[in-house]
Amino acid sequence: MTTETRLRIAMQKSGRLSDDTQALLKRCGLTLNVTDRRLLAHVANMPIDIMRVRSSDIPGLVMDGVCDLGIVGDNTLEEAALERELMGQKSQYIRTSQLNFGGCRLSIAMPEGFDYQGIKSLDGLRFATTYPQLLNRYAKEQGINVEFCLLKGSVEVAPRVGLSDGICDLVSTGATLEANGLVEVEEIFKSKASLIQTASALCSEKQSILDTLLPRIQGVMKAKE
Ligand code: ATP
Repeated sequence: MTTETRLRIAMQKSGRLSDDTQALLKRCGLTLNVTDRRLLAHVANMPIDIMRVRSSDIPGLVMDGVCDLGIVGDNTLEEAALERELMGQKSQYIRTSQLNFGGCRLSIAMPEGFDYQGIKSLDGLRFATTYPQLLNRYAKEQGINVEFCLLKGSVEVAPRVGLSDGICDLVSTGATLEANGLVEVEEIFKSKASLIQTASALCSEKQSILDTLLPRIQGVMKAKE
């Protein structure tokens, strides 16, 4: 089988979604070499290639049709779609399946002691975030104006060093917020990992691989419920 007819799946190279993604693909019967350092790895027993990249690159790779499928957090996906719409770039994709891992929420958190009286208390304030588009959409829906500064990591430290009034960041247990003297005041987006697919039609070879893979993914998800 030539490279063009192998199904290409993008997954996070390393991070919070990579172990669960790898486990899912293995449980679907794909033979993956986890110690493989190659960024484009062949699955030995199926005509599938796995592209291991940064999470934030996955939506664009699928939307541009470079990868046929991707496994990514809804937060990353929605942020990328909003950003690409703003830039006039292609932002279509198909959400093939919602997966049952990677659960978290994007929330606004303020320093302990901040007098929070509802959403209007946040009007005119500045937030450190990796998700400016999601924050901006939420602020518009709520009828408030916010400023933001873009941070790709260590967002929780921003208020303490005077970079921002509050933060808008991903939370799962809340322990990191607490450790940094922050209190969650608004949940703005709920997220889980999703399997997404390019909006362009797949060739028949790729479609038939997907037709084999998809019921297996759904079976694994059901078994985990
Ligand atoms: P990358 O470094 O690969 O570009 P990233 O910075 O988003 O991406 P991670 O911190 O590993 O990398 O997070 C990957 C995804 O895991 C998040 O986008 C989110 O969907 C999910 N996630 C689940 N729980 C959390 C959490 N508590 N904090 C951050 N992300 C979480």
